Amino acid sequence: MAAQETVDHKYVYDFSEGNKDLKDLLGGKGANLAEMTNLGLPVPPGFTITTEACQAYLTTGRQPDGLAGQIEAHLESLERAMGKRLGDPRDPLLVSVRSGAKFSMPGMMETVLNVGLNDQSVVGLSAQAGQNDRFAWDSYRRLIQMFGKTVCEVPGEEFEHALDEIKSAKGTHDDLDLDADDLRGLVDAYKKIFSKHTGREFPQQPREQLDLAIRAVFESWNAERAVLYRRQERIPADLGTAVNVVTMVFGNLGPDSGTGVAFTRDPASGAQGIYGDYLANAQGEDVVAGIRNTVPLQELGQLDRASYDELLGIMARLEEHYKDLCDIEFTIERGKLWMLQTRVGKRTAAAAFVIAGQLVDEGLIDLDEALHRVNGAQLAQLMFPRFQLDHEFQPVATGIGASPGAASGTVVFTSARAVELAAEGRSVILVRRETNPDDLNGMIAAKGILTSRGGKTSHAAVVARGMGKTCVSGADDIDVNVPAKRFTVAGQTVGEGDVVSIDGTTGKVYLGEVPVMPSEVVQYFEGSLDPEHIDNPLVRAVHRIMTHADGKRRLAVRTNADTGADAARARRFGAEGIGLCRTEHMFLGDRRELVERLILARAPGEREAALAALLPLQRADFEEIFREMDGLPVTVRLIDPPLHEFLPPLEQLAVNVAVAQERGEDVAKEEALLAAVRRMHEENPMLGLRGVRLGLVIPGLFAMQVRAIAEAAVSCARGGGVAKPEIMVPLVGAVQELETVRAEAEKIIAEVVGDSGVEVLIGTMIEVPRAALTAGQIAEAAEFFSFGTNDLTQMGWGFSRDDVEGAFFWRYLELGIFGISPFESIDRDGVGRLVRIAAEEGRAARPGLKLGVCGEHGGDPDSVHFFHEVGLDYVSCSPFRVPVARLEAGRAVVETGGSDSR
Ligand code: PEP
Ligand code: MG
Repeated sequence: MAAQETVDHKYVYDFSEGNKDLKDLLGGKGANLAEMTNLGLPVPPGFTITTEACQAYLTTGRQPDGLAGQIEAHLESLERAMGKRLGDPRDPLLVSVRSGAKFSMPGMMETVLNVGLNDQSVVGLSAQAGQNDRFAWDSYRRLIQMFGKTVCEVPGEEFEHALDEIKSAKGTHDDLDLDADDLRGLVDAYKKIFSKHTGREFPQQPREQLDLAIRAVFESWNAERAVLYRRQERIPADLGTAVNVVTMVFGNLGPDSGTGVAFTRDPASGAQGIYGDYLANAQGEDVVAGIRNTVPLQELGQLDRASYDELLGIMARLEEHYKDLCDIEFTIERGKLWMLQTRVGKRTAAAAFVIAGQLVDEGLIDLDEALHRVNGAQLAQLMFPRFQLDHEFQPVATGIGASPGAASGTVVFTSARAVELAAEGRSVILVRRETNPDDLNGMIAAKGILTSRGGKTSHAAVVARGMGKTCVSGADDIDVNVPAKRFTVAGQTVGEGDVVSIDGTTGKVYLGEVPVMPSEVVQYFEGSLDPEHIDNPLVRAVHRIMTHADGKRRLAVRTNADTGADAARARRFGAEGIGLCRTEHMFLGDRRELVERLILARAPGEREAALAALLPLQRADFEEIFREMDGLPVTVRLIDPPLHEFLPPLEQLAVNVAVAQERGEDVAKEEALLAAVRRMHEENPMLGLRGVRLGLVIPGLFAMQVRAIAEAAVSCARGGGVAKPEIMVPLVGAVQELETVRAEAEKIIAEVVGDSGVEVLIGTMIEVPRAALTAGQIAEAAEFFSFGTNDLTQMGWGFSRDDVEGAFFWRYLELGIFGISPFESIDRDGVGRLVRIAAEEGRAARPGLKLGVCGEHGGDPDSVHFFHEVGLDYVSCSPFRVPVARLEAGRAVVETGGSDSR
């Protein structure tokens, strides 16, 4: 029975049987060829072998049962439809065999053209083409070359070499100067190369050629470059590719033939119009290889008006049908237009917004769909400054846009030199073949990082992204010589001290300083561009889509801000409150001395005096923030990091004391400080005396902060304002910790607030795994939870958040242990599960418990969707990320149809 099922399983679909929604099964190319066929567009007939057949082949190493028979049947019906047989000596049907996975993997997998040609059918092909021997022999040599290289792994250079030899014997550089006899000779040479490497003659049986080509396409799924590309683009490894067998049409049959590519709108700016290139008398691969220069598509209008008009009609039809920008490939064979491919085209971030807005205007899509079609990563890209590339700047190399932004600076080749020059206030670009953990200081000091090796998950890329630093990686045209302190590119030598500019979005590298332009989108968010009165299509589209997202979203968006200035900026970006005001910076600067006194206090009353001196300073900090937030909620977190972080580093202090002692100076004070630093030194400070533990150990510390918050709120209320403070206790792992802090805080609040009408909530961070697992108990003592997913990730995985990203994440990403750093995007299965458990159990114990997140994940697009699904009330993120979170929170509603787990 099972065997019967396998035999009956459908592995091959005629183009007339598929449609655009079957990408999983037919791959993108196959599904869209089927869609165009069903629209009645001129697609050369053919069929698609499914991704399932490929998966079966790759798992078992052989074609699944039934596949051969189905290919046979589809080939026969193709032959019937065309009135020709594959490889018929008199009038051959020729086919191309093309890969096509669900997700586009440009140039990663294989294609074989002209399958069906052999020593006999080459003569028939010539007759078919009007006794065009040159064309026929050229097609045959192309088959042997492609087949040899992709199916039988014959080194491609050998074919290139043989071609070059014939050309130089003729004294020409141009393929077109070779005549039929030359190409006949080339076929002989190619055949010899083929048999030398494979130990057999070039296969003359058309069916054998076809079968071997299909297998080669299956196998190309696992070619090294394809594996690498998938890893980088996070395409699952088990999808497999479909194989399209398509009747050959020829663009190289003379001046009335040709081939081209086109977009229905400008994929760079989104502007409406016809964008494309055309090459007369050529095949698709000539365009890709850049052998001859293409002309703008509009010129086809003069060369072949009828085909041009037909093409424009088809493009308009495709746009209307797909309701999106489409890109297409076409061929004209003797005045007859054929569509070889279409798909929803890739576009820049700016074009994504502009096109979505235009399609709404044109009535093709609604605003929900427009929101679905853009994303936070694109918005984030639009918020970086860009290079102003008017005319004179041409890139000298292009690598991988590994971490966005635009940076110019002096070239340096070592981490030490980067640190040195940065200390002098110079902007530097650190150039390395690849970076490693020893380069960390240099990377911190540099404005940007440029490497000649490595992809999006290389050490340089991962670390730079983590730092928000511009990075171009894998610019392999650059030859870096670190010992000689220079690199060469495009025939030029660039030494230490020269200036380069790198664009971390496009991956382009320029020599000299390119001027940087601020982002119009940021100007709009900051309120300096009025979207209603501006002629900038991008800003108008962003405004419209953001407004829609705000109307849709259920998650509120707050910000992490601890100064009035940050709070004000975040409000302009749309923040609806502060979700995390870290109070630790308020203990630095000229307050350090007070903090030292607080820590070192020995005599009775000393600590109290230090706290009393800190109180008014803290109160003023909070007053400023409450004023800026003007009635919006402000979550203030009590001090979190270990106290010794406020003291000087141990080694440096020990040396200073020793030197001073040597000189016989009075070092009593320094010695006391040194003793305290030694006393407080911890091997694992992140797991040590910090957060609530500190509050329970240092009497009066939390009390002072609580009093400052309450007093600031009251003073704000008495001044006619509104303050909504929420006091948050960090690092709680057990309800008893929170209860102890709460009991003391409530007393202070009651005493300060009196009848002012000020209400102060008390809640906790959930950032220790134990807190998540005992959330039901903790909720009894908390009016809100805010998930500290930075620490929750650190403690959930056991990864030191300060060390591991630079140390070994690149390797984990390479191995696919995770596709993205769990500090960047929430690990849904592990850390996310802790969040889900705590949210559910917390709400079960206290209905109405307010839930938010204030770890870095609050501004990460994918994580925002997760927090929406889990049913949190808000996300909180850095000011710059607020628009991204607003957009993604709106998208989450549109994509889930409004459902979440609440
Ligand atoms: C967290 O741990 O996620 C958090 C917000 O706190 P911090 O980053 O200050 O430790
Ligand atoms: Mg934390």
